[in-house]
Amino acid sequence: MRKKTVLSGMRPTGPLHLGHLAGALRNWLSLQDRYRCFYTIVTWHALSSEYQNSKAIKGHIFEVAADWLSIGLDPNKSTLFVQSEIKEHAELHLLLSMIIPLPWLQRVPTFKEMQRELPDKDLNTYGFLGYPVLQTADIIIYKAEVVPVGEDQAFHLELAREITRRFNRFFGHVFPEPQIMLTEVPKLAGTDGRKMSKSYGNAIYLKDSPQIIRHKIATMVTDTRRKRRTDPGLPQDCPVFTLHKAFVSQDKRQELAQGCRTASIGCLECKEVLIDRLIQLLTPFWEKRKKFEKKPHLVWDILEEGNKKARLVAQKTMEEVRSAIGF
Ligand code: SF4
Repeated sequence: MRKKTVLSGMRPTGPLHLGHLAGALRNWLSLQDRYRCFYTIVTWHALSSEYQNSKAIKGHIFEVAADWLSIGLDPNKSTLFVQSEIKEHAELHLLLSMIIPLPWLQRVPTFKEMQRELPDKDLNTYGFLGYPVLQTADIIIYKAEVVPVGEDQAFHLELAREITRRFNRFFGHVFPEPQIMLTEVPKLAGTDGRKMSKSYGNAIYLKDSPQIIRHKIATMVTDTRRKRRTDPGLPQDCPVFTLHKAFVSQDKRQELAQGCRTASIGCLECKEVLIDRLIQLLTPFWEKRKKFEKKPHLVWDILEEGNKKARLVAQKTMEEVRSAIGF
């Protein structure tokens, strides 16, 4: 039976953290055997907000790809590639931009939200407004039928579906309408209790050493009710417990939650369980990553192979697109 095509991507803004693992990578790994997966490092999307620091993006590509490969994305199963190496994305983005009514983009909630959240960056640009159009091109150029997204990205995918319908209506049925595969994205707290994010400086990175992970978690904020060892706490109000929910087995979690509510365990004991689990989970990752750090050309070669595969598919689609338009 023909496997359906999946596309997903990540912005190269630095090494990946536990939030990426729980929110996307674990799901991507599980999709590899059942779908024809295209996973892309979306360099142009990174440029839309990082254009003042563009030289850093190349190094970030390596970090993301090394993390992907070390966590188990398999280039023999999935096509791993760099968006900006496939120039056809840019051509399709341009063509789509001719038919998108401007209000469709102006109503995208993230356009205003991101400007508010990142006041030190000037995001009032043509490229940033057009982000969802480029994202649509990324998806439909591979005729992706399924796109795994968290709830916060669902609006973008709805828009991609609308753009696809509009293209097909004007020029004939070239693209399947991509379907949303809604995935649960657990909200992981960072070391300061806010959402885990590189920009907040509170992230626990996959490549952090066991010592760094131990230190970050040992000093992480907990439920403020537990001032003394004898004070009971509420796990649902504890930032550390968001990590337990993502990485510790349910049985163990229930036991720890009970211990927290009754003050029969201390926070350090509770954190130790998490630290041990993360070290166990990440040990094979660290071993593989060391290999890639020693031989970075292995990572670049794999990406180059992925680029070739992706390019062939994208070129074929663009021939259909040009012919449908009448060029
Ligand atoms: S015992 Fe665990 S869940 Fe409870 S406050 Fe401490 S770290 Fe958080």
